[in-house]
Amino acid sequence: MSERFRNRPFEVTAIQWVGESNCAEVFAFVGLNHDDWADELDHSKLHLPVLEGDTAVHGDWLVKYADGAVKVMKPSEFEAGFEKVSSILSNAEWRAEGTRRFGKDAAQWKFRCPACGNVASASDFIALGVSGHSAPHGCIGGVQVELGGLPGVKHCKYHVSDLPRLPEVIKVEGAAGDALLAFPFAEAAPASAALPLGEAS
Ligand SMILES: [Zn+2]
Repeated sequence: MSERFRNRPFEVTAIQWVGESNCAEVFAFVGLNHDDWADELDHSKLHLPVLEGDTAVHGDWLVKYADGAVKVMKPSEFEAGFEKVSSILSNAEWRAEGTRRFGKDAAQWKFRCPACGNVASASDFIALGVSGHSAPHGCIGGVQVELGGLPGVKHCKYHVSDLPRLPEVIKVEGAAGDALLAFPFAEAAPASAALPLGEAS
């Protein structure tokens, strides 16, 4: 009897050589001391013995496998083969974080649109006469476009389901065990940040 199998997914660690700004970090990643090499370093290419003949240039990814081997990949090759491992927040963790920042009333939890920076809570949506359920998932800028503009709110229609997905979008476990996409929480206002721990409970 034949059965169906698939490759086990495997994880690597990787760093993109952006340029001089993260050069030292890249050297540390492959186990070398940047300062030992500074004299002969050519910033148009990174050619290191540890890379087994591979030459990296700015923009390339250095990919480290479980056995420690490091391979250089072009961005297109890397993006085709790997996706970032994003951890899913449990619903309880997400609620704890919202409560920590903004208190127990979830309608007051503020979310930041990763596309434009607009910050809004469910109660802000409700104040505009629309459902507050969109607050973690869509930009309030999309609502105000229909209303003809609100002071201090940027025009923006970004929604978590839009592609390309912005890296700041987080995954939260839904009530049914599914994964929901959500905007990151906004920074807590200084006043609520100053509440002593445990005050909300
Ligand atoms: Zn926005």
